[in-house]
Amino acid sequence: MTDITLVQGDITRESVDAIVNAANSSLLGGGGVDGAIHRRGGPAILAECRRLRAGHLGKGLSTGRAVATTAGDLDARWVIHTVGPVHSTTEDRSGLLASCHRESLRVADELGARTVAFPAISTGVYRWPPDDAARIAVETVRATRTSVTEVRFVLFDARVYEAFAARVG
Ligand code: ADP
Repeated sequence: MTDITLVQGDITRESVDAIVNAANSSLLGGGGVDGAIHRRGGPAILAECRRLRAGHLGKGLSTGRAVATTAGDLDARWVIHTVGPVHSTTEDRSGLLASCHRESLRVADELGARTVAFPAISTGVYRWPPDDAARIAVETVRATRTSVTEVRFVLFDARVYEAFAARVG
């Protein structure tokens, strides 16, 4: 059974086995939560991302996929990078947002991570409406068989926090 918990705040302050990063496909850093994770986690994370790009992820990480690196100086063992879809009003990309959560949990299981912190993937620069993102995130975690015992959604923004709180109840 996976407990879903909510925290309003900065995910880089959490103490968990793995922190999920809402990365972009380059894996070479960006703004938002990605920038915050690299800033606080230090250069070891980017160095490992560069090694992945030089190896089997030469073209970058596809939307909906996930890959792990060290967590550097963060209070976690791993960062799991996943690439959320940009929200579209003409195309239903919710399957890709669900895939980010499912794949991150699959990678967490491979690592043996039991506690995993997720940001609200795609709700920033990628413009996903918070209510819909919260529905997809929470439904997908509930529907995924995993050995992770706690999924902690760490929401930076009060409005996004409220959207998740309405779903988790
Ligand atoms: P995306 O490109 O997937 O939309 P963003 O990083 O732009 O990614 O935003 C995703 C969510 O992460 C947004 O809700 C944003 O408010 C939030 N966020 C930004 N910084 C942090 C942080 N330090 N901790 C947790 N969440 C954060």
